[in-house]
Amino acid sequence: MTKKQFWNLYRSIPRGYAYRELGNNVGVYRLPSFEACPQIEHGFTARTGGVSVGPYESLNLSYTRPEQRENVDENYRIFTKAAGIRFEAMVMDSYEHGTTVLRVDRGDCGRGYLREPLPPCDGLVTNDPAVTLITGHADCMAFFFYDPVQKAIGLCHAGWRGAKERIGAEVVRMMTASYGCDPKDILAGVGPSICPRCFEVGDDVAKAFEKAFPHCPLRGINAAGKATVDLWQVAVCQFLDSGIAAEHIELMGVCTVEDERLYSYRRDGRTGGMAAYLGMRE
Ligand SMILES: [Zn+2]
Repeated sequence: MTKKQFWNLYRSIPRGYAYRELGNNVGVYRLPSFEACPQIEHGFTARTGGVSVGPYESLNLSYTRPEQRENVDENYRIFTKAAGIRFEAMVMDSYEHGTTVLRVDRGDCGRGYLREPLPPCDGLVTNDPAVTLITGHADCMAFFFYDPVQKAIGLCHAGWRGAKERIGAEVVRMMTASYGCDPKDILAGVGPSICPRCFEVGDDVAKAFEKAFPHCPLRGINAAGKATVDLWQVAVCQFLDSGIAAEHIELMGVCTVEDERLYSYRRDGRTGGMAAYLGMRE
């Protein structure tokens, strides 16, 4: 594929989201394509409706930040109640900014908050409707995957390192290997993250991305004159290379740095985190 061919495909990918108030001031961003699937429960949380204060205000769902654990527990109780998820059904990633993807099932419910964490991993796959997959985010992308044919799902935290190393392709590979999924059937989506204008990088990082994705015109210069990288291109490129159809890809197109309803490490430094969640209804 040439840069021009990729660019034309990339520009054809729909961008959009639905913002849903779930009650008690808890809000989530959703992919329209996933929301149209009655078997799927998914979203990406906003920061409103929780009990955390100060820089963590208010629905901080990150256990890795120096916050009071009871607050994060309470925030998860508030969030799951509003979202209609069983609190005990969650399985959380245990992130390492790598590309490890683990297969989980109902035997793993509670891992990462009620029980011992999973081994280091940034991605999870399952075909068990009793499980709600959870990944944590501050500016990093969330990749959502759903195969309506084999009835399997995948979710991952794609920080810039994991995205560069193609964790999205690893999720697809795990879904294929574990559940017999055909990539042509898989729907894929990208949640809110730092946007192409805001993701300023050093020259070394920009060069590393250009080397890893030679067909993507992903390097830019923003208004401040700084080099930037378009992580959404990085996402789309690895989905296409994995065999996912362009018409099955969707980008929310929301920037965590610019949208004040979201936490942003890049904007605020000391801050809380959002959760992406994905499950199938039984
Ligand atoms: Zn931005």
